[in-house]
Amino acid sequence: MALPPLTDPFARTITYLRVSVTDRCDLRCGYCMPEDMRFLPKADVLSFEELERLCAVFVRAGVTKLRITGGEPLVRKDILSFLRGVARHLDDGGLKELALTTNATRLALFARDLAEIGIKRVNISLDTLDRETFKRITKRDALPAVLEGIDAAREAGLKVKINTVALKHDNAHEIPRIIQWAHERGMDVSLIETMPLGEIEQDRTDQYISLADVRANLASFWTLRDVNETTGGPSAYARIAETGGRLGFITPLSHNFCASCNRVRLTCTGRLYLCLGQDEHVDFRAALRGGASDDDLHALLLEALSIKPERHEFQIAPELAPALPRHMSTTGG
Ligand code: SAM
Ligand code: SF4
Repeated sequence: MALPPLTDPFARTITYLRVSVTDRCDLRCGYCMPEDMRFLPKADVLSFEELERLCAVFVRAGVTKLRITGGEPLVRKDILSFLRGVARHLDDGGLKELALTTNATRLALFARDLAEIGIKRVNISLDTLDRETFKRITKRDALPAVLEGIDAAREAGLKVKINTVALKHDNAHEIPRIIQWAHERGMDVSLIETMPLGEIEQDRTDQYISLADVRANLASFWTLRDVNETTGGPSAYARIAETGGRLGFITPLSHNFCASCNRVRLTCTGRLYLCLGQDEHVDFRAALRGGASDDDLHALLLEALSIKPERHEFQIAPELAPALPRHMSTTGG
């Protein structure tokens, strides 16, 4: 029997689950985590068996899109078997899309398998095309591996979108070049504002730049036309006449996109966060490890949705602490 759609108290239908499979990462992007980031003990992290079971319950309940993220999902051992397990729901029709967000350092190794499993789209985070700047932002000399990963993904037939965090000092001047480079290769770009999530070593306000300003600069030499297209995410898209490509703007700080929110996020420890920018969450690990049945887990999901906040309330200013103590790598960006 078909179940009713998953809805929240604000009449939004939830169809999109982002799953963080690990909090670990092989890079240390300055806006995301500190150099000496302390990772979770293994026992706290759900096994792939547990994660697969939760995904199955969520898909049966009405989730049609899954995005696997992290930390860096491709650093977790046996990630391919997990993805194969989850991809079974593509075959039985419960799931319409299985997607991945990655920093691409290991993508050259995985691209063909990902395509073969049924993944069609990958979001790749890339903030610069300059090797020295990449080293400065991520603390690792990995740009060549990332570019190789991007080529491998395109060759394997994956649709690639580049996600670029706009950083006032590190890459604002380079944004037009990144867009041009991506559009020449048939890849969309989404620009992201830095969000105040988790303590880091640097001052985020110092790197914060409003995408309204970035857009005004681009519009001084390119023709940007807003398009009413969505990929199911929070990007508002424009098409650039001169490059022919699409450019998305993810603007949690200067512009709120909560009214159309269709998503929830599962951490690798089994917490379901109802909003990226709020603390409301429900602990599925305790339920799983306490012997909950699939029906119990389904009931817990409905309970969780009943506390989904209406909106986030991000603010960024030097005197303010991060909006939330948890890092994006914990919640899954
Ligand atoms: N490691 C993978 C990657 O970098 O694509 C997946 C996880 S990462 C947390 C997902 C996205 O979150 C990346 O595009 C990254 O740039 C973004 N991100 C991380 N911390 C952020 C922050 N404080 N503000 C804005 N975006 C952030
Ligand atoms: Fe790692 Fe992604 Fe965070 Fe960069 S943004 S440190 S690649 S999890």
